Amino acid sequence: MSARTLPPFDPRDPLGLDDLLDDEDLALRATVRQWADDRVLPDIADWYERGALPAIRELARELGSMGALGMSLQGYGCAGASAVQYGLACLELEAADSGIRSLVSVQGSLAMYSIHSYGSEEQKQQWLPPMAAGEVIGCFGLTEPDHGSDPAGMRTYAKRDGSDWVLTGRKMWITNGSVAGVAVVWARTDEGIRGFVVPTDAPGFSAPEIKHKWSLRASVTSELVLDDVRLPADAVLPGATGLRGPLGALSHARYGIVWGAMGAARTCFETAVEYAKAREQFGKPIGGFQLTQAKLADMAVELHKGILLAHHLGRRMDAGRLRPEQVSFGKLNNVREAIEICRTARTILGANGISLEYPVMRHATNLESVLTYEGTVEMHQLVLGKALTGIEAFR
Ligand code: FAD
Repeated sequence: MSARTLPPFDPRDPLGLDDLLDDEDLALRATVRQWADDRVLPDIADWYERGALPAIRELARELGSMGALGMSLQGYGCAGASAVQYGLACLELEAADSGIRSLVSVQGSLAMYSIHSYGSEEQKQQWLPPMAAGEVIGCFGLTEPDHGSDPAGMRTYAKRDGSDWVLTGRKMWITNGSVAGVAVVWARTDEGIRGFVVPTDAPGFSAPEIKHKWSLRASVTSELVLDDVRLPADAVLPGATGLRGPLGALSHARYGIVWGAMGAARTCFETAVEYAKAREQFGKPIGGFQLTQAKLADMAVELHKGILLAHHLGRRMDAGRLRPEQVSFGKLNNVREAIEICRTARTILGANGISLEYPVMRHATNLESVLTYEGTVEMHQLVLGKALTGIEAFR
């Protein structure tokens, strides 16, 4: 093939990865990107600086009408999109801010996924349609103050009282907690760990917001306090006993992060390219220095390798062949590389790199949370280490 018949090199898509997408994928991606441009980007620096997401209910309803909540789930008002399409949406949302992608991940992949996969027909009918529409926000309470990476040690306890359940305990670092209408709470019972669908207006339930975060500032993070919360017998999720339940939901949410992290990285990379072309030092654009070009080339390689990896995992999920170890592979690589891309972009912007006038520091600090939640880097290394050697090294 002669060079004249080759498609042109596209700096925004250097590997030609858009060839992997069909028209429906491209249209969905364009819709989500446009929404994020219109509804998030104009205000995100202000929300970040204030440490608040004041429009969260409005945004949730708009995300719902776009089909972005519980996007790859079937029925009950959910969009039934492919895993690749869900991933593309996560990427575009996180290109705006990790807090917005977190809202969508927790709603769709953690809270709705748990009800959809493990709930009774009545629970699904009651909760999923309003959650898909963004009218009811959900949260997912697994982590506790003393039990993060090792949730098996959780202390939150659900005891039987007649046919009722009574829940007592505390959950920590819960995304969407204080704005949620429903909480999926994991608790120890005499039969092992079970999940409970807890309406947040139940007496004894409260969700004080966690302040003073320096990461994911445009996201609501809360404690959940369960002080003898009495629930009817049918509040338990019938389809999950043991950690298999929460881990299944986490695997789905981590898959979205594999894509999402590349959105944050893309924004930082593109900001750095534009800055490097415009900013002059020593009489020429800093993008004309070899050291800057080396940084940009390495960033582009990791960014597009990461998107390719996300796409590969998405196709496996769509084919029903995606293993949790493969999700760990993707989360470990893509979040770690995304944070490096953002940090390198920060260096290219010099002093401007630390300003909220540019998005890079915001994305870099957000990714510190993304590196930790849904399994820390070390947990995913241990998952892969076990899969590679057959030897468990968690303890
Ligand atoms: P720890 O488990 O105490 O770990 C501390 C360090 O020790 C880490 O580096 C870890 O990798 C390392 N470590 C632990 N065990 C080992 C080991 N065996 N070998 C080697 N290293 C080890 N949780 C929810 O349930 N729902 C949510 O919606 C939610 N949202 C969150 C939002 C934000 C902004 C944040 C920051 C967290 C959120 N989390 C949520 C909690 C998150 O999932 C936990 O923070 C995470 O699982 C890590 O737990 P931890 O913070 O207790 O750290």
